[in-house]
Amino acid sequence: MDIVRTVAEADRAARALPRPLGLVPTMGALHDGHLALVARARATCASVMATIFVNPLQFGPNEDFAKYPRAFPEDARRLEAAGVDLLFAPSVAEMYPTGFDTTVDPGAVGTRYEGSLRPGHFRGVATVCTKLFAIAGAERAFFGAKDGQQVAVLQHVVRDLHLPVAIEVVPTQRDGDGLALSSRNAYLSSSERAAAPGLYRALRAMTAAVERGETDRHRIVAAGRAEVHMPLREAYLDVVDAATFVSSDAVAPGGVARELLAIGSVWLGQTRLLDNLPFVVAPVRAIAGAAR
Ligand code: AMP
Repeated sequence: MDIVRTVAEADRAARALPRPLGLVPTMGALHDGHLALVARARATCASVMATIFVNPLQFGPNEDFAKYPRAFPEDARRLEAAGVDLLFAPSVAEMYPTGFDTTVDPGAVGTRYEGSLRPGHFRGVATVCTKLFAIAGAERAFFGAKDGQQVAVLQHVVRDLHLPVAIEVVPTQRDGDGLALSSRNAYLSSSERAAAPGLYRALRAMTAAVERGETDRHRIVAAGRAEVHMPLREAYLDVVDAATFVSSDAVAPGGVARELLAIGSVWLGQTRLLDNLPFVVAPVRAIAGAAR
């Protein structure tokens, strides 16, 4: 595995790799969720390029940029063992040199839920990913379903800006008790870690309500809320259209089936966890009462 630190080196090395090239952007502190993205890229592309960059542009002023976990030597070892051909790990100054002043604003899809709790977050994500797509020139880029709104934002950016890359989505990897793997799980105390799967249980309760035939969005969300107890504190729970993150009211009879997501976020102490579960609503079903 080649490790490069500058945009010029990354661009040159990426262009020399056999096609199709799969790109796996990460912020490091790697876990098996990241490695599932690498495995999918390895299985479906001729070459794999990973990136490790803790992107300051997607962190708010009072967020965890400075203390975000960093574990470069171990990350590089795991990526090499997973079959990555090229690792790009730039500095902040390399990605955002003096004079940098162009950003990508993904519009309405980036303003809801995570976008409303973290103003500017998706502008940071869209900007860094657009830059990485341009540097890598990869045919495919791999992202985790766990960050469902990030996927919706990037699909939107790629479509609107005609970026020549296909977004591939890899299912969420979980611990045995259902907790979605996340670099931020490292922030949890042992008692918080024990409570954390309550978020997954809430999302399961929501999709189970739909499977039982519940069509009222408020009752679906209430089924989830019943699983959120102290020390968990709800940030949001909802049912949204997977592509737009607009809360989903109905699928008109005779319409097409739509992919919906039960989405949720909870606070546990100073840490906020994020997760979602997909389900498809058949054309004749309706989820009533959407408010957002
Ligand atoms: P991050 O390093 O947190 O920015 O994540 C890098 C990529 O890994 C993103 O596409 C995430 O959606 C993805 N990812 C993070 N956690 C998981 C997980 N538990 N399962 C699958 N993909 C994940």
